[in-house]
Amino acid sequence: MNENTNLEGPAAAVKPIEVVEQTLYEIRKKIYPRAVTGKFATARWSFVLLTQLVFYGTPWLTWNERQAVLFDLASRKFYILGLVFWPQDIVYLTALLIIAAYSLFLFTAVAGRLWCGYACPQTVYTELFMWIERQVEGDRMARMKLDAQPLTARKFGLKATKHAIWIALALWTGFTFVGYFTPIKTLWRETFSAGLGPWEGFWILFYGFATYGNAGWMREQVCKYMCPYARFQGVMFDPDTLVITYDRERGEPRGSRNRAVDYKAKGLGDCVDCGICVQVCPTGIDIRNGLQNECIGCAACIDGCDQVMDKVGKPRGLIRYSKGRVLRPRVLVYAAILAAVAIGAGVSLWLRMPLKVDVIRDRAAIAREVEGGLIENVYRLQIMNTTEQARAFEIGIKGLPGIQVWGGNTAGVPAATSRLVPVRVRADPGQAPGSYPVEFTVTALGVEGVSVTERATFVVR
Ligand code: SF4
Ligand code: SF4
Repeated sequence: MNENTNLEGPAAAVKPIEVVEQTLYEIRKKIYPRAVTGKFATARWSFVLLTQLVFYGTPWLTWNERQAVLFDLASRKFYILGLVFWPQDIVYLTALLIIAAYSLFLFTAVAGRLWCGYACPQTVYTELFMWIERQVEGDRMARMKLDAQPLTARKFGLKATKHAIWIALALWTGFTFVGYFTPIKTLWRETFSAGLGPWEGFWILFYGFATYGNAGWMREQVCKYMCPYARFQGVMFDPDTLVITYDRERGEPRGSRNRAVDYKAKGLGDCVDCGICVQVCPTGIDIRNGLQNECIGCAACIDGCDQVMDKVGKPRGLIRYSKGRVLRPRVLVYAAILAAVAIGAGVSLWLRMPLKVDVIRDRAAIAREVEGGLIENVYRLQIMNTTEQARAFEIGIKGLPGIQVWGGNTAGVPAATSRLVPVRVRADPGQAPGSYPVEFTVTALGVEGVSVTERATFVVR
């Protein structure tokens, strides 16, 4: 029995609390973006084609009879055109990450979400997947009608065709991605001779699945809920940042109309409230409500609205990029840091010595006296030839009277290879017991200016 039913007097007047259940996450409304053309759509497609040409094409390029760009994790060497990077070159990776971060800060401060709208892989693949969708199922209205229909043979055929093309493109993308880490021509042969390794197979499927899921299904949800950049970019905005805005003063009050009516006399603004700007938006927002977190800055609404303005005989630009000062302190600071790191990394790369040497003392062999009363120490020199030509190196030492490399002072190292070379060093007797600093010099034979000096200690007992 409900206890409240027995209450009398003032307690009977107390209403039971009404519990309203709220969901933590907004239920997704499916978005059917309408196709749009215009100068910004052309710019976006140019970026799509350019980035994909680079992404899909680069692993197939050859340099010095090997893959031009290959991140060979197994042998811990990165090949980028004529350069070979070793784990010791981590400083360049650090510089690259700093450059990428500051480029993003700089472009965001100047041009808002330029990266999101034109070059981010999520935008690029969503654009490609939406294009396939339009070719198979038709534009916005046709897709909305199709989704509302019960399942028929035609609907099943269209959906199956779309997903088959999406999956093929996603798998090709996964294959290309793995082709940056495993020589792509070998990968191709392995894939079609059922000889694919488990890791390669896993990463092709994983990356393919991520592409299919993110560009085919998740789309704007990735930008709205998953992308960290979308979350923190707000702090990089200032009043001068380029953003896409609706000219409220010019557009409002909005309202539909026909040409015969003098809409100014009716007090209406230029917005005909056609909704095209909302229909073309890939994130489904209405830019007329002001700048929103969901806006990826793709400018599709500008193209859409410009076409409407052309039709109603009004000037373009009711929705447009805002104008702001480009040269301002924050931008100048970002640009200066970016330029300093880029120039520093470039100069360092230009002057990079294509030879690295590490001296390792052979701990098993202690200093000993040999024939003629000389003192001998044994070392191992790790000589890394970072060029793509086999080279011979001369090993010298100085720092003590009569010190010299004994029993052969040259070593050959194949191209892009590291070799451990045992080296015996002898010095005149007569030193007091102790450790003495000495210097190894490794010099490439027949090549001007390729020489590295490394410190070591010579032990006398
Ligand atoms: S496209 Fe332009 S005219 Fe049409 S509703 Fe949007 S702002 Fe108004
Ligand atoms: S509001 Fe305009 S710029 Fe922003 S995401 Fe939508 S269409 Fe793109």
